[in-house]
Amino acid sequence: MPDGCTAIAKIIGNRSILAKNRDLIWTDFCDTVVFENDVFIVTGVDTSNAQICGASFGMNRWGLVACNTTVLVTQDTAYDILLERVLRESKTIDEAFNLVRADLNHGSRYQWCNFILASPQGVGAIEIGDGVAVLEQDYIMIARTNHHLLLPTADILRHASPAEREAGGPLATSQNRRQEAFKLLQEAKSTSDFMQILSTHHKGRGFDSICRHRPDNPHTEPYLGETVYSYIAEVSYFEPERMEFRINVAPGNPCSSTYKEYLIDFNASPQEKENIVLDFP
Ligand SMILES: [Zn+2]
Repeated sequence: MPDGCTAIAKIIGNRSILAKNRDLIWTDFCDTVVFENDVFIVTGVDTSNAQICGASFGMNRWGLVACNTTVLVTQDTAYDILLERVLRESKTIDEAFNLVRADLNHGSRYQWCNFILASPQGVGAIEIGDGVAVLEQDYIMIARTNHHLLLPTADILRHASPAEREAGGPLATSQNRRQEAFKLLQEAKSTSDFMQILSTHHKGRGFDSICRHRPDNPHTEPYLGETVYSYIAEVSYFEPERMEFRINVAPGNPCSSTYKEYLIDFNASPQEKENIVLDFP
């Protein structure tokens, strides 16, 4: 499903933190989560038939955390399906990139997007365009909104229709939003700093605002939508075999909502996992 979205990731000491504001044009949207032996996934939705599909945000027991942001809505497959495979089949950012490249080489095509990833080894972004993918890796931090930084797609995005950009919005607003998120991320030292970043507004609180608000009259901006969920995933690693996973989630605009924290224990009983699935807002 095309999400607007701002995604940021940073390594802080022995923790990796990855966060996303999910901006959608749909109203009354409610998350569905999947918690299995190896993966915890916030699902996507196929806009063509409103069926749950793939992953919009998630983590796996090997310490890989990932989410996506939309770049261009095409007739191709929803990228959420590919992100779910990444979370189920990859332990590292390199493995994730190899999986994406191999899938594209086999002829699969997806709507254009970014995958933002964090692992104990560092953070990264996989940019996916028309049958191509490139990887940016960093030891410390990364940020993406609704455009590519490495793939030369800026001219195409600049001339795309509002429907093709959907909640991604005009290119310049996405660029402003990323620059602001990256600047704030440089100072972030804690989960609460991430909460602050995700609650940041730009004047007008529209496409260039990290926390996005629906306009008083939605007909004036049919693709603007609003921030419907805010997520912060955190992996603390003490040694290769000992990791602790947490997710904070706030439904609605994070500036006025409250985050709920869950400890994600992949060794928990099926009943304990089910309790989190049912309690997830
Ligand atoms: Zn707000």
